[in-house]
Amino acid sequence: MVERGSIRLFTFRDIPVRLHWTFGLLFLWVLYTGMRFGMDWPAIGVLALLVTSLFACVVFHEFGHALTARHFGIHTRDIILSPIGGVARLHKIPEKPAQELLVALAGPAVNVIIASILAVVAWLTLPTFLDIQGETETAIFWIGNFVPLLFWMNLYLVVFNMIPAFPMDGGRVLRALLALRIGRLKATTYAAAIGRGLAILFLVLAVWQQELFLGLIGLFVYFMASQELKMVKSEHLYRQFTVGQMTRRRFTALPEHTTIQEAVHALQHSLETHFPIMDEHHQISSYVRAKDLLKGISSGHGGLSVTYVAKPVQGILPTETALPDAFHYFQRDQDALLLVSDPEGRIVGVLDRDQIDHVLYWSQRHGGFPTI
Ligand code: ZN
Repeated sequence: MVERGSIRLFTFRDIPVRLHWTFGLLFLWVLYTGMRFGMDWPAIGVLALLVTSLFACVVFHEFGHALTARHFGIHTRDIILSPIGGVARLHKIPEKPAQELLVALAGPAVNVIIASILAVVAWLTLPTFLDIQGETETAIFWIGNFVPLLFWMNLYLVVFNMIPAFPMDGGRVLRALLALRIGRLKATTYAAAIGRGLAILFLVLAVWQQELFLGLIGLFVYFMASQELKMVKSEHLYRQFTVGQMTRRRFTALPEHTTIQEAVHALQHSLETHFPIMDEHHQISSYVRAKDLLKGISSGHGGLSVTYVAKPVQGILPTETALPDAFHYFQRDQDALLLVSDPEGRIVGVLDRDQIDHVLYWSQRHGGFPTI
């Protein structure tokens, strides 16, 4: 239920929607704003209802991204709501520019649809249509203004998200359009530079206007742009390698009856951090991680078999697999262990993150491949 400081609200189409704990601060902000502008309790109630409705619209927006991504076979881990907005955490970003373009546009498109519905409702029911009535804050946050206020907020979501501050939606649209002409790596370099520039502008504006949320968004965009550029750069590097070139061909397979204590002993005499486990038919279907072995020792289970702390092997990949294809496994689980098979289907080695980092380090330093 609780994962990394967030709670699960509900699951729709296999996608959990989570609320980050900081979301609670948003309601403190509502109270603070209400007090600052001398709003009465009904007005504060309408403001709270508006904020809640706005975040419901953000959830629809994120499902716009997530369900479009699903259309292209990309799953979404979850949707997380925080005070500065929502994030649909896709397992991977579509590499085809046309797909990224559609996934990015689907979010704001949902808010265009919601705004259109609200406009029709306002047109049918309100004599003043989309005008917001009232002079003071207390008068503005009145239930009669609810539909027009939510309309303008949805429009704001569309406009703000379409600012080309990569990796915000507008920035992704920009990257996708650039990628069609100059390739993904260069496109990301330019989009991330523009994104970081705009993020700095957000921060300056935030300090100048004393806008806390804009400041937080500026920080978020700045770091996410840097992180995604780093990711695309390493993907570009990985593309030059196959799984076979990365494979650890000499590895220690522990028999099933090995105790945790014995495995820790093996750990101390090896550079390996993951050990495959071999059953009596010499088949490998599970493995143990160093940290689980150490946890087993510290909780007094040293005498138990390693199978007690084992995990199933995540996959078997042929040697000729492109390295980026192996990366999906490590994105899902940093500590994954994969088996590598030759064209005859024989297991020739194992692959884990440490091994990849090791070979990349080696190849960058010495321009070759170590044999391990
Ligand atoms: Zn979006």
